Amino acid sequence: MDLIHSISENQETPQPFYLLDLGTVERLMHSWKHSLPTTKPFYTVKCSSNPALLAAVASLGANFNCASQAEIETILGLGVSPDRILYTNPCKAVSHIKYAASVGVNLTTFDSKGEIEKIKQWHPKCALLLRIKIANDHTSWRPLGTKFGVLPDEILPLLSEAHLSGLKGCVCGSFQFGMPPKQVLNIGGGFKDNSLFSEIGKTVNEAIKDMEAAATAPLSVMAEPGRFFAETVFTLVTNVFGNE
Ligand SMILES: *Cc1c(COP(=O)(O)O)cnc(C)c1O
Repeated sequence: MDLIHSISENQETPQPFYLLDLGTVERLMHSWKHSLPTTKPFYTVKCSSNPALLAAVASLGANFNCASQAEIETILGLGVSPDRILYTNPCKAVSHIKYAASVGVNLTTFDSKGEIEKIKQWHPKCALLLRIKIANDHTSWRPLGTKFGVLPDEILPLLSEAHLSGLKGCVCGSFQFGMPPKQVLNIGGGFKDNSLFSEIGKTVNEAIKDMEAAATAPLSVMAEPGRFFAETVFTLVTNVFGNE
């Protein structure tokens, strides 16, 4: 903060800019591991693709949630291996699917029959996670249920469709990597760096324990935090030229 004061007191600073606090990124990862120790974070690149933030998050061991070819390219460019990337987009361009296949990004999400057909044709090795619509997410700051996800009565028909097509699937979902079946639960995003986070962690961990007790195969849990890692790590530095 002293640094920010000394910079902002210098009226010569020509352009506003962001300062990234790498110490905060580290604290956030520590807090994630502490509160959600068994949930693997896949940082959602669209929330900030600042290269220094991405490199820090990668070096702290996070995986990545990419929505496009450009985002996948950025993450692979950091030297991150393709098996640390989840490709999530409810309506994927065929050229992006082919690209994902060519670089070995083999895990994606879907919520419609059309996506199954495209993936079967262009990336048959890809494993699928079915997106379920969030009920009652009107209290959410960013209600993604308006953008994607299936309703409960669409789950079984789509799963059997994916199964029939020979793809490895899925209800957020059990799929196989040439190994015994594994159950995968993706709890998505929406986490904030605030005092509620550890409470949320406790609730989620309890639910995971219950699911593990009921699971027929090892359960792997993942999440797609975005703002959690991007919202509190930047400070805008700018001159105030007048205040009247
Ligand atoms: C934007 C987005 C996220 C991240 O959301 P936050 O609320 O910032 O955590 C996660 N998953 C998907 C699919 C998204 O589009």
